[in-house]
Amino acid sequence: MKEKLEKLKSILAETQDLGFAGAVLSWDQETYMPNGGAEARGHILGTLGKIAHQKFTSDEVGKLLEDLESETADLDPDSDDARLIKVTKREFEKNTKVPGDMIVEKANLTTASNMAWREARENNDFSLFAPHLEKLLDWNKRYVELFGPYDHIYDPLLDDYEPNMKTAEVKAIFDIVRPKQVEIIEAIAAKPEIDDSVLHQKYPIDAQTAMGNEIITAIGYDFNRGRMDTTHHPFSTTFGYGDNRITVRYEEDFFNPFLFAAMHEAGHAMYEQGVSKDLERTPLFGGTSLAIHESQSRLWENMVGRSKPFWDWYYPKLQERFPNQLENSDVNSFYKAINKVEPSYIRVEADEATYNLHIMLRMELEIDMMEGKIDIKDLPDAWNSRFEEYLGIVPDNDANGVLQDVHWSFGLYGYFSTYALGNLVSAQLWNRMLKDHPNVEEEIRAGNFTSIFNWMSEKVYRHGAKFDPQELVKSITGSNIDGDAYIQYLHKKFGDIYEL
Ligand SMILES: [Zn+2]
Repeated sequence: MKEKLEKLKSILAETQDLGFAGAVLSWDQETYMPNGGAEARGHILGTLGKIAHQKFTSDEVGKLLEDLESETADLDPDSDDARLIKVTKREFEKNTKVPGDMIVEKANLTTASNMAWREARENNDFSLFAPHLEKLLDWNKRYVELFGPYDHIYDPLLDDYEPNMKTAEVKAIFDIVRPKQVEIIEAIAAKPEIDDSVLHQKYPIDAQTAMGNEIITAIGYDFNRGRMDTTHHPFSTTFGYGDNRITVRYEEDFFNPFLFAAMHEAGHAMYEQGVSKDLERTPLFGGTSLAIHESQSRLWENMVGRSKPFWDWYYPKLQERFPNQLENSDVNSFYKAINKVEPSYIRVEADEATYNLHIMLRMELEIDMMEGKIDIKDLPDAWNSRFEEYLGIVPDNDANGVLQDVHWSFGLYGYFSTYALGNLVSAQLWNRMLKDHPNVEEEIRAGNFTSIFNWMSEKVYRHGAKFDPQELVKSITGSNIDGDAYIQYLHKKFGDIYEL
């Protein structure tokens, strides 16, 4: 058994290495690569991906997994090795079910579809994109058939991002959360608008960077094992143990985009920096799901970074760096400004109170499309009417509505829900942490984030992908993923800010 396990691990280590090599090239593509390199980079990434896929789905891996499953039956089911075999087997089965020509077909479809989407968005003309979306929907329908039988046609898509979560579970959670969030937004809309002009001034980029570096270092991002670069759409990425990058973007005349993206991406990267070295070069080395990942980024960005205790500590430091900009402001009005709630068309700019609604409407439309309940040509109207129902406004055009995000043009269905689930999980973890560290708010007010960081490291980070998302949340908090804690959090926070 030991020999077979070592053999399996050595193959997996190589597939991981190939994946990390691809990650370096993708990171470079989004940061420093000149435009002229795009075509060649596409070839290189394609080749690396193909070699990694061949290695991972080889008959040898299949045979090793089969033998090891019976030979390791007496291992502690929560041990690293037992989990490694379980997670690898699951991934192996999924990967080997999809025929190679379907993967090639999708790559071709998405190239054409992405180009059409850009044109459609630029010209505000959904009809240019519709035929491509139709083909990708058809591809997704054939894809899910490979994983039958399933309880719901959306399950295999969701499972790619949230292992073992079911559509019915997510729908049940969202059905409870949605009307409560709509209620909060309606209550806020009846209150006077917050003046956030303090944020819309010139904030020199060097000073923004210095402040951001100080903050993310303080919360726990380790620059000795990471670095920060500039990009268009911020992301974080890992190149193996000891190298976890983050990327950010700047706006010189708006305070929010850089700092909150830096905290968000640092949250993702801290999760990966905290994965146990014992799991290095295995499929367990990384976050367990997108929702758990997002729970960490949103926790640091929002529950810490947009909290009053945080700015009680940092506002005076911010004043030192930006004395003129903050001359006529104080910590209370600054805190309110960064938490202003305002229904808006664009998801990525949405505040904490409205964000989940953007996600829910998108997931509902994806499910309707998969179930055949909605025709692609009717999608813009369906988008707008649901948008009005949830957010109280109608997008002024399709470019700011149904065409706003790139994801459908890549045929990506099933993962948007993970963004909202991440918010819910962040509040569940936070509440559980408060039981062990009731003085965390006081600690934050003194610039001390050690209790939070250590607690997350111990409960979440070090385990990597050993446990499924539901399993992990349940083992930490005692309950499955649900929305109660998040709704309470919104009530408390926005109740105070808007005097609801
Ligand atoms: Zn994120």
